[in-house]
Amino acid sequence: MAIVGSGFSGLGAAVRLDEAGHRDFVVLERGNDVGGTWRDNTYPGAACDVPSHLYSYSFALNPNWTRSFSTQPEIEEYICGVAGRAGVLDRHVFGCEVTRAAWQEEHHCWALSTTRGTMTADVLIGAFGALAEPSLPAIPGIDDFDGELFHSAQWNHDANLAGKRVAVIGTGASAIQIVPAIADTVAHIDVYQRTAPWLLPRFDRPFTRAERWAFRNIPGVLRLARAGIYAAREVQVVGLAKNPRLMKLFELLSRAKIRAEIRDPQLRRKVTPNFRIGCKRMLIANDWYPALDRDDVDLVTDGIREVNGHSIITEDGTAREVDAIVVATGFHVTDSPMFDTICGSDGRSLSQTFADKGMRAYKGTTIAGYPNMFVLIGPNTGLGHTSMVYMIESQLNYVVDAVTTMTRRGLSRLDVRQEALDAYNEELQHKLTGSVWMTGGCASWYLDAHGNNTTLWPDFTFRFRAQTKRFDVDAYETTASRNNQAGAVDEL
Ligand code: NAP
Repeated sequence: MAIVGSGFSGLGAAVRLDEAGHRDFVVLERGNDVGGTWRDNTYPGAACDVPSHLYSYSFALNPNWTRSFSTQPEIEEYICGVAGRAGVLDRHVFGCEVTRAAWQEEHHCWALSTTRGTMTADVLIGAFGALAEPSLPAIPGIDDFDGELFHSAQWNHDANLAGKRVAVIGTGASAIQIVPAIADTVAHIDVYQRTAPWLLPRFDRPFTRAERWAFRNIPGVLRLARAGIYAAREVQVVGLAKNPRLMKLFELLSRAKIRAEIRDPQLRRKVTPNFRIGCKRMLIANDWYPALDRDDVDLVTDGIREVNGHSIITEDGTAREVDAIVVATGFHVTDSPMFDTICGSDGRSLSQTFADKGMRAYKGTTIAGYPNMFVLIGPNTGLGHTSMVYMIESQLNYVVDAVTTMTRRGLSRLDVRQEALDAYNEELQHKLTGSVWMTGGCASWYLDAHGNNTTLWPDFTFRFRAQTKRFDVDAYETTASRNNQAGAVDEL
C-alpha cells in the first residue's frame, strides 16, 4: 500500500493500518518530516481554532496540552511524537513527491512515479490534504514586486520584517492570526480585505496546573473533556446545516464584539459582513479588531488593481508603498493540482473526471473508475465548526475495514459502483440545499466553479462516523485476485 502524504490523515492511516496488522505500506511524503499543514504553516500567530483535546487522535490523547487552543509548534510536536511512538517512521520516505499515479488494469495495481523513482502499490491512499497547495492571487505585476513576497503557508523566516511596511492580502483564518502577531514588530500594515469575515470570541487560555494534573492522573478526564468540546461544537450543525435563521444569534454576538473592540465608526462599518454568519468559515479571535483599530494598521477595502515596483495600487488609483507582501489568500481546495496526476482505469485524470460535476466521491473516500484508491479528507468531508481529525478517523475506520475485507476475501480490485456514488451525492446535495453555506449570500471556497458545495459535510459528524463504521462491500464491484480466486469465490 502507498500512502501519499504524512499529515494528520496520512500518518493516521499508517498508524491505524499498522495496528490492524496491515504492515506492508510506505508513506510517500514530499516534505522532510511528518505534520502536513501543521509542519508547513509556521507563520507568526499560527494556532488551531478547535480545542486540542478534540483536535487530536482519539488513539493518542495528549494530557500535556498547555492551553485550550494549541499553537502550531505544539501541534507539530504532538504529531511528530505520535509518529515516533507508533513506530511507523521506518516506512516513511521523505522528500518524495508523487508526480503521477496511474491504475494498471492488467495488474490490478497503481504505478507511481515519484521524485525518488517508480513503484507499484496494490492500494493507494491519497492523504495529500485539502489545504496543501497555496493559492496565489492573479494580481498584475505581483511577480515583479521589488520587496519580500511570500504566502502565509510558506512563511519566509529569513525575511526581517522589523520596522518594515507590510501589506497583508486576505482576511481569512490565516491573516487574522498573522496581523495581530506582527503588528508590534513592523512599522505599518496595510490589510487588503475583499470580504469582511464574521468573528466570534476565542475562549483560549492556558490550562492550570490542577487541570493538567487531572488530565494526566484521573482516568476518564481527558475523554470527558473531549466529549464536552465535541457536544458543544456539534450543536452548531443545527444552525449551519438545518436552520440558518438560528445563526442570527451568533450574528448578534459578533456585532456586539465589533462595537466593543473598534472605536472608529467608519472602521466598524468596513468590518461588518454583508452575508449571513456561517456562510463562510466563522473565525475566532480576540485580537483582530483591536489590531485593525491601531493607528499603524490600515484596512484597505478597495480592490487591488496592480503591483508596481514597491507599491500596491488599488482600483481608486491610490498607490501604497510597502517593503513586504504577505499573501494570505488560501489554498487550491476544489482544484488541487494533485487531481491532474492521478489517472484511473479509463486513463482519465481526476481533474477530467471532476470537470463536469465537480469533486464527487462515495462517502468522501472512493471514486468510481479509480479502483483500490481511498482519498482522505476527500469531497464533502470538510468542516467549519469542529475537528477534522474526527472526520479523518471516521474515514480511517472505513479504509482499514476495506483493506481487511480485501485481505480476508482475497480481492485484488475494488471499484465503487457509479450508481452508489451518484445516489450518495444526490442525497448529500439535497441536504446542502437549505444550509447556510448555500443560502447565506456569500462567495466562498466551499463552492466550486459550478456553484456546488463539494467540500463540506452537511450533517452531524456522528452520522458520518456511523456511515463509515464498516466497509460496505456491496456498494463495490469486486474482483478476486488470481492467486486467490478459488478461495475467494467460496467466501463471496
Ligand atoms: P481563506 O480562508 O481561503 O482566506 C483567504 C482570504 O484571502 C480571504 O479573505 C479571501 O477573500 C482573500 N483573497 C483570496 N484571493 C484574493 C485576491 N485575489 N485578492 C484579494 N483577496 C483575496 O484562507 P486561509 O485564511 O489561509 O484559511 C484557509 C483555511 O485554512 C481556513 O478556512 C481553515 O480551514 C484553515 N485554517 C485554520 C486556521 C485555524 O485553525 N486557526 C488557521 C488558518 C487556516 P474572500 O473572502 O473575498 O474570498
